[in-house]
Amino acid sequence: MNRSCTMEKLLYVNLSKKQVTEITINHRLEEEFVGGKGFGAKILYDLLPPGCDPLSPQNVLMFMTGPLTGTLAPAMRGCVVTKSPLTGTFADSYFGGHFAQEIRYCGFDGIIITGKAAESSYLWISDGTASIHPAQEIWGLDTFAAVEKIRELVGDQSVKTACIGPAGENMVSHALINCEYNRHAGRGGTGAVMGAKNLKAIALRGTKTLAPADQNGFMTIVDQAYKELAESEEVQSFNSDGTAGSIDFANLEQLLPTYNYYDGTYNEATRLNGEAQRRTFWLRNTACAACPIACGKVGSIRRGRHKGLISDVVEYETAAMLGSNLGISDIREVAYLVKKCDALGLDGMSAGGVAGFAIEAFQKGLLNSGDTEGHPLEFGNVSAVDYLLEKIAFRSGIGNLLAKGVKEAAKELNRGAEDFAVHVKGLESPAWGPRSVPGMGLALATADRGGCHQRALPVLYEIGGEWKGEMVERHGLKYKGEIVVHQQNYLAALDTLVKCDFGQYGIKAETYCHLMETALGRPWDVEKLMKLGDKIWNQIRLFNLREGFSREDDTLPKRFTEEPLPEGPYQGELITKTNLDQMLDDYYAVRGWDDFGKPTEDKLKELGLEAMPTLVQIPTGNQ
Ligand code: SF4
Repeated sequence: MNRSCTMEKLLYVNLSKKQVTEITINHRLEEEFVGGKGFGAKILYDLLPPGCDPLSPQNVLMFMTGPLTGTLAPAMRGCVVTKSPLTGTFADSYFGGHFAQEIRYCGFDGIIITGKAAESSYLWISDGTASIHPAQEIWGLDTFAAVEKIRELVGDQSVKTACIGPAGENMVSHALINCEYNRHAGRGGTGAVMGAKNLKAIALRGTKTLAPADQNGFMTIVDQAYKELAESEEVQSFNSDGTAGSIDFANLEQLLPTYNYYDGTYNEATRLNGEAQRRTFWLRNTACAACPIACGKVGSIRRGRHKGLISDVVEYETAAMLGSNLGISDIREVAYLVKKCDALGLDGMSAGGVAGFAIEAFQKGLLNSGDTEGHPLEFGNVSAVDYLLEKIAFRSGIGNLLAKGVKEAAKELNRGAEDFAVHVKGLESPAWGPRSVPGMGLALATADRGGCHQRALPVLYEIGGEWKGEMVERHGLKYKGEIVVHQQNYLAALDTLVKCDFGQYGIKAETYCHLMETALGRPWDVEKLMKLGDKIWNQIRLFNLREGFSREDDTLPKRFTEEPLPEGPYQGELITKTNLDQMLDDYYAVRGWDDFGKPTEDKLKELGLEAMPTLVQIPTGNQ
């Protein structure tokens, strides 16, 4: 039993050489980058040659855990880190369930996978012993069937699995990795990287245990964290409605994507919200390992053409992206489309963005029925979206274009398609239209993996919040840079633990620090946490700069900068280029970056990132 909550080892898998090796974690890596996102940021920078093709054998696919993953600390998860085939940036994508915990019970703090298997394969890890096996019997199966089959192959129904569906096999740039029923590493095309490596699945079974350095002290803080979760209104709303409860808020505030982000309000939003879902199919709550929040809801559709379909909660992002964004208001149809994405292994958020883009392209005459085998692409037409998802996952016909994501598809279509391609750095935008909340626009423009709401969600300050004792002006620019930097740093630090986003609405920063202190047996405080986040953010910036990104890429789609909201309480609002530029200047200044978005030498020195050596050593003969 380990007494400091770290396994001190990473598993290194070279699929080309069919070799597995253990790497002892460098003490400095553990001290300075802690785990999860931090490990991923540093190791990706160290191992990847600049300009590495994300779908080449050289790219690495990492499954990382944090020091609290697998303990009784509530709401902890795992993350996949790689270079994204969708954006070309650093990508980290988080998943719940039990897979991350099992990595640690197998004796590892993370798995690094490189190379490409000569044939379709799966990786089997049983208590520290890893082996690579042919996966012909699993290749081609959807994610649900693949999980069943791999359990049968390893002869254990309780193994924890990660797998890809047809979309990953076909290297669709927005393919996901399924890490349990309705738990995915969804964003950034991690599934395509796994498919490019000919790796269909990973199965794990572990029995090792973790013990915090100060067991009694740790359990006292765990109790405190549970108390804070129970006392938080936001967290309790996740328990009662999942994230679908955000539909009403986003609709009221005109943030809800509607008709490929044409508007921010949807007349039929109440048909997609938590109440509608409860009425239509929820039966009971479900939860990831050691999570009292239990934001998942599993149920069965009670009426209509999908009667009997087992479905989980349609969480906010997919309810919006595959619902209001496509003009689909029947939550049962949205649940069907979400489940289809899950089975095919498509990120439902990107799929909704891509489908919205395709429908608008069809409306504008850039696509025609010859391209879609006679299927009319229209908003509100479920069968059209159904058709598109299938085509995308198998890269067939029009699906081959759309499998590249909105950014690349728009480039190829040309003829003005880039005007309505809603993405940042290639990542299809999340369901938070920012035109009336400029800070949210800045958060999307500067997010490390492309337009993302999980790196900072300043709307929570912009709509009735305070900063430095002052009410934050929703439409003003004051403090927006500071708020975004603060949130990005804080969340980057917490993503080393690796926390679930929803837990942080209840658990205080000090409590996370006390959890770390008692688990690891060394001092932690909020200042140290914030510095850690700053360091990781800058480490990732160095990676993205090395890959050719610059200030020009810290921008927003034209839909948000040139097309005002067409109606409603915030009619006429948009984020002008001038305002975005001003916010970027402020943001770079707070970050200690120059006008081009590059960390200054002083900043790198302050963070100890100047001339930082490689902190991961691959055993000779297995590079
Ligand atoms: S809040 Fe939801 S997603 Fe997060 S760990 Fe708990 S059950 Fe999983």
